[in-house]
Amino acid sequence: MKDAKLVRKAASDHQSIVSLSKEVAIGGQEILIIGGPCAVESMTQMETVARELKSAPIQALRGGVYKPRTSPYAFQGSGLAGLEILATVSQRYDLPVVTEVMAISQIEEISAYADMLQVGSRNMQNFDLLKALGQAGKPILLKRGLAATIEEFIMAAEYVMSHGNPNVVLCERGIRSFDSYTRNVLDLGAVVALKQLTHLPVIVDPSHAAGRRELVADLSRAAIACGADGLIIESHPEPDHSVSDAQQALSIEAMIKLVRSIKPVAEAVGRKMYGVECPQFAIV
Ligand code: PEP
Ligand code: MN
Repeated sequence: MKDAKLVRKAASDHQSIVSLSKEVAIGGQEILIIGGPCAVESMTQMETVARELKSAPIQALRGGVYKPRTSPYAFQGSGLAGLEILATVSQRYDLPVVTEVMAISQIEEISAYADMLQVGSRNMQNFDLLKALGQAGKPILLKRGLAATIEEFIMAAEYVMSHGNPNVVLCERGIRSFDSYTRNVLDLGAVVALKQLTHLPVIVDPSHAAGRRELVADLSRAAIACGADGLIIESHPEPDHSVSDAQQALSIEAMIKLVRSIKPVAEAVGRKMYGVECPQFAIV
């Protein structure tokens, strides 16, 4: 960890702000909420999500077009067609988009359409990919590996930063353990530790951590209460029909309710929510 000279916090008030667009940033006082389906399935699906969640309000849209699936026979993502849908909806609703990049060969194509590139858990230690993303010119959402230690997670971020990209956001998304009731175990201790050790924004993905939609809202509020700078949550117009991760997907209604319920928790820990009435980002 002593090697992590770029990721480590230099002083207690050292905090990086990472911008996704002109109006949306993470790491300041405002909590960033990213919502959307696991996978981009159709224009209608993404239109509905963007239109309905924009007023929740969420500040950025997610949707995978290259999907890392356990089975090679499962839906692998909609690829370029999905990127075009993301870009169209992003423009129409003025929502920056986050999508996963699985390989060096996809960086250029995805960068032409997306505002932030996600490194999935399964690629957290794909060092060649991390090095290449150092040169991508886009902010990186780095998800913690399925069984990565906090030190390995920090060093993965150090790879991206030491290759030229200072705009890294860390994402705790649950780690493997013995209990199969939940998909993973949400490590909120890691969130607290990462906030203490690093100056990078830290967000939580309660969807992949829990794997069960009924746990997502409480875990989201707990994440904000313990200092997370934001959340990335899976939401779908027809959750049970999601082509991937259906059990953890929230309905649009549940997502809107959840976003609104975060406000008092955020305020209790000195944070603000982006408001519909106040869309401009302001560092206080
Ligand atoms: C995802 O965000 O859809 C995803 C595959 O996440 P993870 O890499 O955390 O499993
Ligand atoms: Mn998913």
